[in-house]
Amino acid sequence: MSCRNAHRLNQIVSAFLDRHKLLDPNPSWLIQESSLGGFGVFATRDIEAGEVIFQDFPVILGPRCLPNGPRVCVVCYSNKTLGPCKRVCGLDVCGEECQNSLAHRKECELVRQCSPPGIRIFENLTPIRSLLLDENDKEVVNCLIAHDRDEHGHEVTTLKKLGCQFKEDDEKFMRFVCCVLDANAFEVALEQNNIRGLYPLASLGNHSCAPNSTYVFNKSHHMLVKASLFIPKGSEIFYSYTRLIWGTPSRLYHLYRTKHFVCKCSRCRDPTEFGTYMGGILCKICRGIVVPLNPYKTHARWQCQDCKRVILGKETGELLRLLGVILRDIRQDDFPFMYKFLNGKLRSVVPENNQVAVQVKYKIIKVLGHLYPWNELTEEMLKIKETLCLDLLGLLEQLRCGKSKMRGLLLYELFCCKRESNTRASKGILDPETEGLLKEAASILEYDANAPQEIKCYLDNKTV
Ligand SMILES: [Zn+2]
Ligand SMILES: [Zn+2]
Ligand SMILES: [Zn+2]
Ligand SMILES: [Zn+2]
Repeated sequence: MSCRNAHRLNQIVSAFLDRHKLLDPNPSWLIQESSLGGFGVFATRDIEAGEVIFQDFPVILGPRCLPNGPRVCVVCYSNKTLGPCKRVCGLDVCGEECQNSLAHRKECELVRQCSPPGIRIFENLTPIRSLLLDENDKEVVNCLIAHDRDEHGHEVTTLKKLGCQFKEDDEKFMRFVCCVLDANAFEVALEQNNIRGLYPLASLGNHSCAPNSTYVFNKSHHMLVKASLFIPKGSEIFYSYTRLIWGTPSRLYHLYRTKHFVCKCSRCRDPTEFGTYMGGILCKICRGIVVPLNPYKTHARWQCQDCKRVILGKETGELLRLLGVILRDIRQDDFPFMYKFLNGKLRSVVPENNQVAVQVKYKIIKVLGHLYPWNELTEEMLKIKETLCLDLLGLLEQLRCGKSKMRGLLLYELFCCKRESNTRASKGILDPETEGLLKEAASILEYDANAPQEIKCYLDNKTV
């Protein structure tokens, strides 16, 4: 029986969450048909900003297909000292505990059966893992959308080239799983950044570049979807599949390439991106801001908002490409260059919130106080960092991001700046406003296994 109807999807997903003890008896969500086509997740009651809407469990979790990506233990995903599993499979494990774990034993045997010894299958392991799913979990995977292009499923082709052998039905299922993973899997943003998870309920949520929710992963690899804005009863819940600090051309390109759809959200349709001009450049004649006449045709014509001069997308594309190359090559430890680039070249060719400028600002925030230790920052550097934090917090507000993860991280960095200034001025006690920054950062980053250590300690102490 086909499961692609809302009633059946709700049943299957609820039963799945219930098996993992993650089903709220009164869930604030419901799967319904979306006006975007297909299905979506909707609020069954008013949800306050910051509330956890649901917690999801990965029906499949495993390495991303990144050839030569960093190796991690295939059981716990740590990158502690690794060695090959001595049972039979030869996959990397961090020690006997993982090697002999129940979770690994079944996989170990399966890998031995299907693959010749001594080959590296790490980055293609995830589809093999799907063969171990039980009937219930297979049903969950079967009800998710699958991409159907030739480029998907190459993991299986690679495995076969390496000499792996599968039963015909198994191979067919694995190829299907690859297509489902490519359409729905989330990068699990933990330390190594190279694992992906298939989260059934979260997979059914739709994307918006002006989302009303955000998500984090906890240390058990559960995904928590939290409201970033107030969500009125009945509205659809959206999160973003791309970076919020990318301009429209970059987001549209990324979404199309990886998820094969064209986003029609309010931010994408607005050539000014809510007045931030993140994708814009400066007019060579009058220094006005140049934006695409049609955000969906950035290769076509762009126009200066002031002098109305029209230029071709080829010209803007070339400039943005060049800036992207410089951005990519910036050395992490070269603050002087970043600052000079931001206030020199960039200022002369792009508006203040152009995505390249925003990324340079974020890079500066991330190095000052970290790679450049707090006690070595000059007063000027400290002031620069503080100003940039405020600057990006303002931008996120303009983008209507609410309690996004990036806001949490910026609030924390701002808190650290204020605390450092306080220490230097030998003021012992922090003012309530500064304390408030840490408090809000912690509430946003709660449950996030990637949150700064200090935030985790703050949260732990609070609950004791
Ligand atoms: Zn391990
Ligand atoms: Zn093994
Ligand atoms: Zn969009
Ligand atoms: Zn102009």
